[in-house]
Amino acid sequence: MERKIIHIDADCFFAAVEMRDNPALANVPLAIGGPEKERGVIATANYQAREFGVHSAMSSAKAKLLCPNLILLRGNMEKYRLASRQMHAIFRNYTDLIEPLSLDEAYLDVSDCKLCYGSATLIAEEIRERIRLTVGITVSAGIAGNKFLAKIASDMNKPNGQFVITPSEQDEFIKQVPVKRIFGVGKVSQEKLRHLNVHTCEDLQKVEFKKLHNVFGKFAYRLQQLSFGIDSREIATNHIRKSLSVENTFRHDLVSLEECQAQLPMLLEELNGRLKSKNLLHQQQKMYLKMKFNNFQQTTVERMLPNSSQYSSFCELMEIAYQRQSLPVRLIGIGYRLKHDMTNQLSLF
Ligand SMILES: [Mg+2]
Repeated sequence: MERKIIHIDADCFFAAVEMRDNPALANVPLAIGGPEKERGVIATANYQAREFGVHSAMSSAKAKLLCPNLILLRGNMEKYRLASRQMHAIFRNYTDLIEPLSLDEAYLDVSDCKLCYGSATLIAEEIRERIRLTVGITVSAGIAGNKFLAKIASDMNKPNGQFVITPSEQDEFIKQVPVKRIFGVGKVSQEKLRHLNVHTCEDLQKVEFKKLHNVFGKFAYRLQQLSFGIDSREIATNHIRKSLSVENTFRHDLVSLEECQAQLPMLLEELNGRLKSKNLLHQQQKMYLKMKFNNFQQTTVERMLPNSSQYSSFCELMEIAYQRQSLPVRLIGIGYRLKHDMTNQLSLF
């Protein structure tokens, strides 16, 4: 099945935020990083600074040497985190399948997004425009059928641009991509590939697999797949689910507690199925039941997980909820609040 992946990457992110907040910095060479006297390193350089050869991961001392007029700021992570959160709030209008790579970079799977006529190209344009207007910085986007290609594409029209690799162009496009653009191909692998006379993905496609396997072992298969532009990695969301529930709105209101309880086995089956499919068994912390009456008022009953059976516990919750109004019931929902550990999220924000 064809997927639509967008890779979003802000243009000189930290520097762009500073330029946004201080117009005096807008047209001068600027870098964010540690002071040269403290053996600092450049985190981000704006495009003016890049013209002098300044780039990220370079020592601040060297950057100052290349560009004596360079303005070097320590930066303000709080501001960057806020900008990142604003970007993510925009992403979430289009999909829940978001994989952050850093504060300013993320993959979005928009295969199921119905907005913008379902066009990933239009979605990327809209996202970029909304970020420009609300966050006040520019981002670039790459649109393709997988993560590997989308990431390459986002670099094609940087800054403030986007690039699409359509499924029909993919095979032709990948041929000219240098192998160093393949993730996992660092300096050492590049050197090994050079020995095999491999520079582009097209070269890599043509290498006999056995030969590749001799040099790269297990990695050889993956390497050759990528050289054909094949990458089936899913979006690794680190969205933390706080609860899981199912609900049903009934075509006819349920007029007694017994009628309500008769719905429970079906709801439970669905809930347990979802718990299982999402791998959330044993994560339950609390159980809750929501009931909406025909006057549209809604009530929720919640409790810690009891020792008694799931069925009888939800039956009890149902009785409590029902007695609060004793009116005909339009909707019943049941679910669990889940335990979660915050470590993933903390490392990001
Ligand atoms: Mg960036």
